[in-house]
Amino acid sequence: MAKTPPPSAWSLVVHGGSGVIDRADLTAEQDAAYREALAQAAEAGAAVLRVGGAALDAVEAAVRILENDPLFNAGRGAVFTAEGRNELDAAIMDGATLAAGAVAGVTRTRNPISLARIVMEQSPHVLLAGEGADAFSKANGLDQAKPGYFFVERRWKALKRQLQQARLPIPSRPKGASKHDVAALAHDEGKRGTVGVVARDAAGHVAAGTSTGGTTGKRFGRVGDSPLIGAGTYASDASAAVSGTGEGEYFIRLALAHRICALVEFEGLGLQAACDRVVQNDLTGLGGEGGVIAVAPDGQMAWSFNTSGMYRARIADGAALEVGIYKDES
Ligand code: ASP
Repeated sequence: MAKTPPPSAWSLVVHGGSGVIDRADLTAEQDAAYREALAQAAEAGAAVLRVGGAALDAVEAAVRILENDPLFNAGRGAVFTAEGRNELDAAIMDGATLAAGAVAGVTRTRNPISLARIVMEQSPHVLLAGEGADAFSKANGLDQAKPGYFFVERRWKALKRQLQQARLPIPSRPKGASKHDVAALAHDEGKRGTVGVVARDAAGHVAAGTSTGGTTGKRFGRVGDSPLIGAGTYASDASAAVSGTGEGEYFIRLALAHRICALVEFEGLGLQAACDRVVQNDLTGLGGEGGVIAVAPDGQMAWSFNTSGMYRARIADGAALEVGIYKDES
């Protein structure tokens, strides 16, 4: 990104997952629907920042929009485990204080990003998992949903295909599965996906949030990078806020989000250069696929991915909203 913005400028970047996403895979309607959804999320975050709101609030507001949208693999529309469940992971981090909250494998919370925030603000812990996290959610009065709420036919079909190929048993359709469907892409990128938002507010603080259903057909309580602070999510006012999407196992091994922040803080790299080095060099070198979005306390914005596409948008004080899907867009 070109010039350093003025100190009061806010900025926000959104992603809706990375993967094999080529122009030929999306109909004009699907292409438009994704762009519209990304724009809506970016606008929801921008609305908070425009009136002087906190980066953390902007991140939560924008992630919630994407969690509620069945197009994305987070909240409603999440992918299924091999047992036919939706187990949701999310994390949020405040760059001003290094406070962080995360949840893994939750099954009943409508908006896992808000649960992550409650973990950060109302518990002495950083990461809660499984039944305990579900109980904490209920105890704190968060909006609960029946498992059928998260169901989307396209994700169910993707699970069935994967299990058939692996010769694994197909679980019975979840009770109360919603009738809701979104048209499958010609090439189903939906094996993965994730949503994430990073923001820098007018006070110069940064925050990051990530939410996901993980990977289709995950087993044995698998947890990805998204809820792991430092792997899929990290924020520090000393460097940047980063949210990732891609093959979580690689992000975890590289402590990828923190690695980007460390290059900025300790090596003095520019934000784009740090993102490119870690994604194009380190992640690619290890054989992993994915991408990141990032903002720095001075307002720099960046994204980098080594897949053919990443659903993404960015908006900043005094700059127009930009939305992209494919690699050849800016
Ligand atoms: N990173 C997520 C995970 O491994 C999936 C994705 O972003 O596509 O759970």
